[in-house]
Amino acid sequence: MSVGTVKNYVGGEWRESKTREVMEVHNPATDEVIAMVPLSTREEVDEAVGVAHGAFADWRRTPPSARAQYLFRLKGLMEEHFEDLARTVTREEGKTLDEARGEMRRTIENIDVAAGIPSLMMGYNLEDIATGIDEELVRQPLGVFAMIPPFNFPAMVPWWFIPTAIATGNTYIVKPSERVPCSQNRIFEVLEDIELPPGVLNLVNGSKAVVDRLLEHPDVVGVSSVTSTPVAKHIYRKATEHGKRAQCQAGAFNFLVVMPDADLDRTIPALITSCFGCAGERCLSGSVVVPVGDTYEPLKQRFVEAAARLKVGDPSDEGVQMGPVISQHAKERILAYIERGLQEGAELILDGREVKVHGSDKGYFVGPTLFDRVRPEMSIAREEIFGPVRCIMRVDSLDQAINIIHDIPYGNAASIFTASGRAAREFKYRVMCGNIGINIGVPAPVAHFPFGGRKESFFGDLHGQGLDGVDFFTEKKVVISRW
Ligand code: NAD
Repeated sequence: MSVGTVKNYVGGEWRESKTREVMEVHNPATDEVIAMVPLSTREEVDEAVGVAHGAFADWRRTPPSARAQYLFRLKGLMEEHFEDLARTVTREEGKTLDEARGEMRRTIENIDVAAGIPSLMMGYNLEDIATGIDEELVRQPLGVFAMIPPFNFPAMVPWWFIPTAIATGNTYIVKPSERVPCSQNRIFEVLEDIELPPGVLNLVNGSKAVVDRLLEHPDVVGVSSVTSTPVAKHIYRKATEHGKRAQCQAGAFNFLVVMPDADLDRTIPALITSCFGCAGERCLSGSVVVPVGDTYEPLKQRFVEAAARLKVGDPSDEGVQMGPVISQHAKERILAYIERGLQEGAELILDGREVKVHGSDKGYFVGPTLFDRVRPEMSIAREEIFGPVRCIMRVDSLDQAINIIHDIPYGNAASIFTASGRAAREFKYRVMCGNIGINIGVPAPVAHFPFGGRKESFFGDLHGQGLDGVDFFTEKKVVISRW
């Protein structure tokens, strides 16, 4: 059966890429080829930037309240196509249907918040800074922005940025992850009906060559990216070298600290969701569970039992709790980490290597896997595995747990489970991570709040979402007047 090649969307129309380089897109649950993706050329990037640049002059003059109307209409259409969009995410990314529905909810939430742009974009003024002289601050859009997302939230991540970028009056280019181009393709099919002016929002498929051209192009004023840390460093360096604004969210390695007074009935389900939700392919996923003191034995026993009960299977079947990882290559990388953990002397207490999924022999499945007796210097306790392989590392005190968290290069998220306000306060005050959970395993900020890590989990100043997003996508101008 032949499968279609996804198209680019530029200047309000679908365009077939002229490239000869195309890649296969696979359904990770079956290995079936579901689409082909073109790796567009530099010339095609230049065309898209030219079109977006041309659309900017009129779009910035469109009143913010009129721009917001497009988002209201888009929200309605996204609700109408909600289930179909969630199924597209599941089919190409491999997360369960419930997880994909959660992803679509968060996508729409960002559209909701940006529809408030007339208020969010307001400046301020002061009369009589000197007698008869007034001063005002206005926010203005800057031009063409671009976005480089990862594979793991193919619908949502671009929409952490797009709604605010276009609502503030900029024009935009998205380059989806080449591993999962179908979700944005489908969203763009849906958004055709809102009839945005041509060129305001564009889609260019491709990989590194497209990213690099966007980073060099003189008419691109800024870039948002969400990638692994080495790629984030490259994007940040190159974007800033070319004088662009850059906000680059990066890799993660997150600790879940469980105090002796934690309520395990509530804590265990939160640990399971954090560690094994989205097959561990989530930047806010718990990588290491850190029981403090006496909680180690009961926690370990209950955690391993709950992890072993998870139903792994085809993510499009309702009731399945964990789907495959993104590719055969990712699976092999994860299996290699299990080998390394064994070589480094950790104890494998739950082994997901031989998981069998009835009817999906070719899928890229790895079952929930747990190592105990993990030490901080082991690679499985420091390096982002991005799969369902998790560690238990016993410590004696909260101080020791915080030192371990601070000893790794990442700073995306960390959680504490406790009944003590004092321990929770100490944790949130001291831990150097951008997102802190207190009795919450996946501390994902809603769209009103900024989302970003610290240390090697983020490069830039202003994070995505919330008022940081409004600041990133606008320039402040001060006007002083006397009449
Ligand atoms: P990745 O770094 O392989 O690729 C991400 C994007 O970068 C893709 O669009 C890809 O085309 C592009 N890219 C890849 N190599 C490039 C290069 N050399 N030069 C220019 N562009 C390049 O990441 P991935 O495997 O798709 O996603 C997983 C990673 O994303 C994990 O490290 C995860 O922690 C991170 N992530 C972070 C957050 C966050 O908020 N911090 C959220 C989601 C995912």
